[in-house]
Amino acid sequence: MAADIIDGKAFALDLRGRIATLAADFTARTGRKAGLAVVLVGEDAASQVYVRSKGKATVEAGMASFEHRLPVDATQAELLALVEALNADPAVDGILVQLPLPTHLDEQTVIATISPDKDVDGFHVINAGRLAVGQPGYVPCTPLGCLMLLKDRLGSLSGLNAVVIGRSNIVGKPMAQLLLAESCTVTIAHSRTRDLAEVVRRADIVVAAVGRPEMVKGSWIKPGATVIDVGINRVAGTEPGKTRLVGDVDFAEASAIAGAITPVPGGVGPMTIAVLLRNALVAAFRNAGLDLADDAI
Ligand code: NAD
Repeated sequence: MAADIIDGKAFALDLRGRIATLAADFTARTGRKAGLAVVLVGEDAASQVYVRSKGKATVEAGMASFEHRLPVDATQAELLALVEALNADPAVDGILVQLPLPTHLDEQTVIATISPDKDVDGFHVINAGRLAVGQPGYVPCTPLGCLMLLKDRLGSLSGLNAVVIGRSNIVGKPMAQLLLAESCTVTIAHSRTRDLAEVVRRADIVVAAVGRPEMVKGSWIKPGATVIDVGINRVAGTEPGKTRLVGDVDFAEASAIAGAITPVPGGVGPMTIAVLLRNALVAAFRNAGLDLADDAI
């Protein structure tokens, strides 16, 4: 039987609608808009597209978008000074520095300079620590979006076997922490894992965040499992000169066996920006000392 398709695009649209309602509520209560600042260094084409779409989505949600562009040869001191200024700016609730940075800049130092209470990407070690010990903080957008899709599909995740493939700080590790907090039995697989197919076959939940096109085969999937495909890989298309996007999971094979699966595109991708807006709005409420119920968004 074919798997149900988990429609991340529709879920993200609905989430953005709820964020817009709460953003309007925030403005009514404080007399100002919740603010998200995005910093872009250099001219990287993909980063420019991301920054533009983040700015557009922020404005569409009724929040203020502050875009700061620095030239590709900006110094570390200039970038840190900008981050410090944004930390001190009361109109700015969330700060995002678009990665990757040009190689002469030190990403870890830049991330460490962002105030943890404005770190809406959730990359600061303080927020990684808060996630690890179960304190409120900011969780990286992509794994939090994956968790929202999983809970929407499955309800309680308690006791389920979850396998996360990939151990990056941005996706794999925080994903594993989130699943552990939901009382899953979590396995983190990575490039050195032995018998990966065998490990994945035990999983009720598979989250693939590897960056290798269609690596996870249908025969690896336990029948009925829920499969979340984080991968975004551009490969040659069927027509000459054309490309197409595929995930880390062989969708055609896996969708014949899984119970539910996210497509690429239209699965996890749209969730990332929606969760960024969510984190920025949560930051606005917290920074203004206003209550926001845990399950409000
Ligand atoms: P990364 O390169 O930092 O990490 C990849 C991980 O995969 C590593 O931990 C590595 O150990 C593991 N890995 C590599 N080869 C493997 C193999 N053969 N078997 C098992 N594990 C292997 O990547 P990332 O930043 O975590 O991103 C992963 C993928 O998710 C990429 O395709 C990226 O484009 C995509 N991504 C999508 C979104 C989104 O919004 N949908 C956001 C972030 C990343």
